[in-house]
Amino acid sequence: MREQSDVASGRIDTTKPHSARMYDYYLDGKDHYEVDAQAAANVLAVHPTVKLNARVNRGFIHRATRWLAREAGIRQFLDIGTGIPTEPNLHQVAQSVAPEARVVYTDNDPIVLAYAQALLHGTPEGRTTYVEADVREPRKIITASELVDTLDLDKPVALSLNALFHFIPEEQKPYELVRELMDALASGSYLMMSHSTHDFSAETWRKVIEVYKENGIPFITRSKNEVAGFFEGMELVDPGVSEPHRWQPDPGERPEDIRSADISMWAGVARKP
Ligand code: SAH
Repeated sequence: MREQSDVASGRIDTTKPHSARMYDYYLDGKDHYEVDAQAAANVLAVHPTVKLNARVNRGFIHRATRWLAREAGIRQFLDIGTGIPTEPNLHQVAQSVAPEARVVYTDNDPIVLAYAQALLHGTPEGRTTYVEADVREPRKIITASELVDTLDLDKPVALSLNALFHFIPEEQKPYELVRELMDALASGSYLMMSHSTHDFSAETWRKVIEVYKENGIPFITRSKNEVAGFFEGMELVDPGVSEPHRWQPDPGERPEDIRSADISMWAGVARKP
């Protein structure tokens, strides 16, 4: 855990918990503060498998990114809601398949920017960059000079929105936001997304939502149909919208040993026609 005195940037607010830092706690990272540890411990009390939940989500991101680079031939990635760096980061996975892969990372939390150096060391052939922006301002992201200098928007891009949209309630027009982002991308682009759900344990998630709310963080779970709605008009890659551990598991992985309620997420990858 970080001490208050470590605060690198005056913009990092250590008086209230932040989602990126709570997620860092779930992943056993060290880039969070006492307030985050407290709030995350309250989530852990009502959803005891939240650490496994976060690790399974990371596993999905790794496999889906590898699939996009290897099977779909994607060489450009736009990752919004990146989170505090955690190894392997998305560019490391993509560049392990295609060293020339280019990755733009985006987050709205200043702590992610403070640690972004770890996201910016890639292969010499490839390129990574960071844009500090909010997913609720898609235009700003798409037109950011760092993005325009890094990605060729006339060619396919994989947009990744993992464990992000459960922070975007209906009044912030989540479906329109995803559509606006995808509209800016070329045909043959992909959307990769994971999202928390109440489908397997409504009572647990009512309590989780309550903890986030008490800490000033809006949190909304969505049903399988609602998550599928984000992929409307796109061609879902096998096995479709599924639990993250069941999305193309690696040989030797045993998704059947994991209880659905322990993870409580839907995930998918789809191609823009
Ligand atoms: N995508 C990573 C991290 C998920 S944690 C993963 O799945 O492993 C959620 C991240 O979304 C946090 O880093 C948080 O700061 C970021 N986030 C939350 N709301 C956001 C918004 N409106 N715009 C951009 N990023 C946001």
